[in-house]
Amino acid sequence: MTNSEETETKNPILVISRFNSILPILFVSIVTGLGVGTIDLFAQSSDQAPVGKREVVSRIVDRNGAEIERSLTGRFGYIYEQVRREATEIIGIEEFDSGGFLIETTIDSDLQTVATDAMLDQVAAVEKHPAFTGQTLVEYQEIKEKHRGSSSIARLPAPKYLQTAMILIDNETGAVLAKVGGRDFQDTMFDRSEMGRFTEGTIFTPFVYAAAFENGFFPGTILSDTPMSGKKVMLGSLSGNLGEWGAEDVNHRYEKTVTAREALAKGKNAATIRIGEKAGLQNIVALAETAGLTFFGDLKKFNATMLGRNSSSLSEIAKAYSIFPRQGATLKSTPIISRIRDAKGNTVYKNPAVESAEKAVDQYTAFQINSLLVDSFKTGTAKKAREIYGLGDYPVAGKTGTTSGFTDNWFAGYTSRVTCVAWIGFDQQREIYSNALSSETVLPAWVKIMNAAAKITNPQPFQPPSDAVKVEICTDSGELACEKCQETSVEFLRPGSSLKACHIHDPGL
Ligand SMILES: [Zn+2]
Repeated sequence: MTNSEETETKNPILVISRFNSILPILFVSIVTGLGVGTIDLFAQSSDQAPVGKREVVSRIVDRNGAEIERSLTGRFGYIYEQVRREATEIIGIEEFDSGGFLIETTIDSDLQTVATDAMLDQVAAVEKHPAFTGQTLVEYQEIKEKHRGSSSIARLPAPKYLQTAMILIDNETGAVLAKVGGRDFQDTMFDRSEMGRFTEGTIFTPFVYAAAFENGFFPGTILSDTPMSGKKVMLGSLSGNLGEWGAEDVNHRYEKTVTAREALAKGKNAATIRIGEKAGLQNIVALAETAGLTFFGDLKKFNATMLGRNSSSLSEIAKAYSIFPRQGATLKSTPIISRIRDAKGNTVYKNPAVESAEKAVDQYTAFQINSLLVDSFKTGTAKKAREIYGLGDYPVAGKTGTTSGFTDNWFAGYTSRVTCVAWIGFDQQREIYSNALSSETVLPAWVKIMNAAAKITNPQPFQPPSDAVKVEICTDSGELACEKCQETSVEFLRPGSSLKACHIHDPGL
């Protein structure tokens, strides 16, 4: 594997998308220096307000009616700020200023607590990796401490420590159940789960396979698993072969041929490009856009897009992944405010009900991807989840995401009920550490969050469409298995699909 940081930072698209995410941080550090309390519009209790004005405090409650702490510190800081911002946009800042509103959110406070603790503990653990050389949170806190109480606080540099973000949504409505916007709202107000755009890396690859399955291929399709020239993809090292960082294994071995099922679950980069070329880049991009991703500049035209050269936000990735447990149907949004009532209890805003949404893939493709991403936890890049990290015994599907320069580590996955996307990386474009793999840096926290969500949401098995055709295929030929075939897998096809008998092992040929 090679570190391609130099080539990546030269790409203008990437630099722009990173820079967009850095600008608000610079701004935030200035605001923070002035004191974040100055933006607290909810601080309207009668003892603080001018006489005759702002007598009633607005309240924010979670989805169970429990009050969310009105604080920019702690586990709810980013949520508090997003809700405050959206509520003022909905109601109008002057109206809102009169106070007395009850803002009902979609947040589950228990899941928020688990999710925040899991991500913050995880990112702190990554900082302790022997190969980690970046600024640590503790180092930044020491710098901050030196400026405390002094006029130089306004010149406090923006933090450069490792960051994290996470979003957990309800698959039925898209409602945000929990989210983490960063490690410390007081250091940077910039919400990485909403506004951050980070290089997708191999988190993108399910959309390559989904496009293939929509265009004549299926999980049994045989792909060549042999080295590919780096020039074909222009990602990672351009001399020599395309790296296999997506396999999450520094000792990756080529297997000559693999099925599409194996290639996705095991995170094979070259094989992904091969099926992607068959599916057609335009089809892949169109599908991903329908699912909710946004592409920038010329990236739609290059093979590197198939391995996640594009940048996305966590909420976009969550929306896009949710098409698979939603049988192909897309989500319009990921709301966090469900209703706002005024001081008299009248509803002044209600999040519009979810309309019947457009389909990004059909139900057969959706099930096929579900089935492949379940394999990630059995034989693929996420198998440590059950072997080491304590993932519960419930139906779950997911995918690691690692970039060629190890700058961004992701895990995205779902049950039938919820979808969770977790990310670790720097706000600046830099390597987390050499060969940082998402199965080690992000997956342990993702498992904790999903275990907590599973306890209260009762996930159901992913079921094939009732009219799908069940077949047993030979994984050497990708054709119907016969008695002599050695390795086989069960696949579900669209009605009307037909396969030949295995030409390698069938005695009749
Ligand atoms: Zn066979």
